[in-house]
Amino acid sequence: VLTEPILTLANVEAAYGAVKAIRGVSLSVAKGAIVTVLGANGAGKTTILKTISGILDPQKGAITFKGEPIDRRDPAEIVRRGLSHSPEGREVFPLLSVRNNLLMGAFTRSDRDEIARDLELVESYFPILKERADQEAGLLSGGQQQMLAISRALMSRPDLLLLDEPSLGLSPKLTQDIFSIVKRVNRERGVTILLVEQNAAMALETADFGYILEHGRIVMEDSCAKLRDKDDVKEFYLGLK
Ligand code: ATP
Repeated sequence: VLTEPILTLANVEAAYGAVKAIRGVSLSVAKGAIVTVLGANGAGKTTILKTISGILDPQKGAITFKGEPIDRRDPAEIVRRGLSHSPEGREVFPLLSVRNNLLMGAFTRSDRDEIARDLELVESYFPILKERADQEAGLLSGGQQQMLAISRALMSRPDLLLLDEPSLGLSPKLTQDIFSIVKRVNRERGVTILLVEQNAAMALETADFGYILEHGRIVMEDSCAKLRDKDDVKEFYLGLK
């Protein structure tokens, strides 16, 4: 890929107390691309995203976004710079209304007309969020909460969206729906996407480039077309052998 990276990680290490979760991860995300990180349960995928969005400070290494260092910065400042995170397990605000959850996603902005326009846009992607705008978010189904988490992350109008396991616990149909919106957001709005997934088939079909993470280390990287053809990927991630 010849386009310039919007995000790079160089030798990033992060831990929870004595538990090393990522052990020297280097990766780069080309501007405008969809890039995926695949790996088994506990490989460290979520930790990579938390370290990028500033929820967790790395112990070593450097993270660069749009040419500037963002490691050890405040998460709100990172959002202001154009990077947002749709977390695993949805993590919506259960007692706030659906509409107010979406507006919380725009907390860094003050351009009211543009916020209203983005609200219309995400509600056109997922009409259920408009139908249930006044209900508590905690009353939504798992799939609807996932739609809300992605939409809330889009409300900051990010240049880079981090997506943690958007298909977790969803039916194949809902997974298809959500991935088709992810592709539209990328193509129509020009949002770069870093996608973490256990559903390797879906991720490799959606993304341009992929990294494979095992025990906190990147063990393989290539275009998704090439990854799909590798015997190890077929056997361990696609269950084809
Ligand atoms: P999953 O798909 O299950 O979320 P993952 O690839 O996202 O897996 P991480 O959640 O990043 O993996 O976890 C990486 C390692 O760090 C695992 O060994 C996990 O047990 C450990 N870990 C994660 N969160 C914590 C925490 N809050 N405290 C202690 N250890 C943690």
